[in-house]
Amino acid sequence: MNKTFLRGARLIDGINKPVNNKVIVLEGERIVSVSSMAKAKVPGANDSVFELNGKVVMPGMAAAHNHPAYNNVNSLGQIDLEHPPTMLTLIAAKNAELLLHCGFTSAIGAGSGHYIDVVLRNAINSGLIAGPRIFACGRDVVTTGDSVDAHPKWWGLGLESFAKTCDGADEFRKAVREEIANGVDIVKLYPTGGHGLPNDREFMSMSEAEIEAAISTAHDRGAKIRGHLISKRGILACLKAGIDIVDHGDGTDDECIEWFLKAGSYLVPSLYLPSRLVSAYLSGEAPGLAPAIPDLERTLESHPQTVRKAHEAGVPMLVGDDFGFGELMKHGDYAKELAVYPELCGVSNLDVITWATRNAAAFTGRLDDLGTVEQGKLADLLIVDGDPSKDLRVLAERKNIQAVIKNGEFVTCDPELSRTTESA
Ligand SMILES: [Zn+2]
Repeated sequence: MNKTFLRGARLIDGINKPVNNKVIVLEGERIVSVSSMAKAKVPGANDSVFELNGKVVMPGMAAAHNHPAYNNVNSLGQIDLEHPPTMLTLIAAKNAELLLHCGFTSAIGAGSGHYIDVVLRNAINSGLIAGPRIFACGRDVVTTGDSVDAHPKWWGLGLESFAKTCDGADEFRKAVREEIANGVDIVKLYPTGGHGLPNDREFMSMSEAEIEAAISTAHDRGAKIRGHLISKRGILACLKAGIDIVDHGDGTDDECIEWFLKAGSYLVPSLYLPSRLVSAYLSGEAPGLAPAIPDLERTLESHPQTVRKAHEAGVPMLVGDDFGFGELMKHGDYAKELAVYPELCGVSNLDVITWATRNAAAFTGRLDDLGTVEQGKLADLLIVDGDPSKDLRVLAERKNIQAVIKNGEFVTCDPELSRTTESA
């Protein structure tokens, strides 16, 4: 089989410090060797050779809070009212392809109506459409009257495609089992309000019995489960029940950090949204955001330091945010999130790259195959012009992502890069 040689790379492997002058050799879907230029094998006559001259090779990234079917909506109520499921599926397919082209070879869902994530995952895995490897999420499983139960009752809609309402532990057990029967890999809960939702952050939308029932049921069936959590009370209740992902996590304190570590739970802080919205408001770009600003400013005042503290204590982090929700959170801006963590929290660029690569592979149980650049792993790789270990903003410019490789195949390849290809 013909091989592909990526020669002269600056390698960011997802674990170690960057190293220059590396040669990464791909054969079929896998990385067959990673070595120095001096030790690299000589390409054969039919092999492809890319002379990278110091361009970066790094693992494909993972968007761990992904809503491909959010069509730049401005309210929760719009998510399932504006388009039929067929149209939403096409929108989601376009966004999945865009996500891949932006350098994200994996995605972990955070909520999708009509099981669109499941359909996308299966369509992508079968080769029907292009997109990242999707760890599929389904409906928001919520209580009656929760923020996400968004349509006025007098409309009499009875829609259950986006938010599934349940009351009591038994109904949560049944709903979680239905989600899994419909093919989801991860279930989404909304135990608290806050963070842009109509109910405030101290509002508990689920009882402890409901939380325990939902989480244990997901685990009994081998699925993961995540929750929108913006208060210490909600976070602790979910961590004690073993939730897999805490979304946002405002209200985390030292006691919560201990429980994160005990439960082995991941934190997805999603700090790009508050940062983007507050800066757009302050610059006059989005005056209509005024009512939401105090709550978001509260997040920015305290949460970045908490995220840093949790990270330093060993809580595993993932990146991902609510792209597609609000005009300021455009699909395609996905990689802009990464630079927020060095800027606001003082976390190193390399650590954030590890959050976006290795940690996501570990979370989805794919670390043997994905998440780092190592011999034997699947070739989900990026070739980047510029050095994200020095400035993560280079990843946010599409032109810098010169190639996206998934499963050993070039999904995109910049013409400038192609010109360096030669047969030896
Ligand atoms: Zn979300």
